[in-house]
Amino acid sequence: MKNSSFAKVNTINQVMNGNRTLTLIKPKAVKEGNIGPILNKIQEGGFRIIAMKLTRLSFIEAQKFYAVHKERPFYENLCRFMSEGPIVAAILEKDNAVEAYRDFIGSTNPEEADEESIRGLYGTDLQQNAVHGSDSDDNARIEAGFFFAEREIFTA
Ligand code: GDP
Repeated sequence: MKNSSFAKVNTINQVMNGNRTLTLIKPKAVKEGNIGPILNKIQEGGFRIIAMKLTRLSFIEAQKFYAVHKERPFYENLCRFMSEGPIVAAILEKDNAVEAYRDFIGSTNPEEADEESIRGLYGTDLQQNAVHGSDSDDNARIEAGFFFAEREIFTA
């Protein structure tokens, strides 16, 4: 099949090429009306949105997404919180995206995050820290596949 003239459609592996990361705007930030300001900040930071949706995780899906934390004492609370309302999921593109975005959003704990970072501005506590960012290229690839079909990802 020929590529459409609107956008190239690639496989998750082709599209998550080391310059892309997965972010979530967490339920509390969505509920507080901060989707717009957070997306604005992401774009001002030079991250290009190549996939995005408003969605909601079930408790079981949140458990799968955060399976790496299943032994941690906060796991159940975190999964309950992450499934309590809508979230925004997006794939972002920038050079060295995983590391650049983690630097950009600030420390996990908003109290320790730079005041002007997304977590510093919009996070309220360690758990409700406004946004998620993938922690490795491999996890970015897995997390992108968790939320997006290949046809929902738009490369230039
Ligand atoms: P991140 O990569 O900066 O998001 O941090 P982690 O991978 O360590 O943790 C994943 C998410 O779990 C964080 O973003 C927080 O929402 C939550 N979290 C991390 N540590 C704690 C904790 O000690 N207590 C609670 N309640 N939540 C935590």
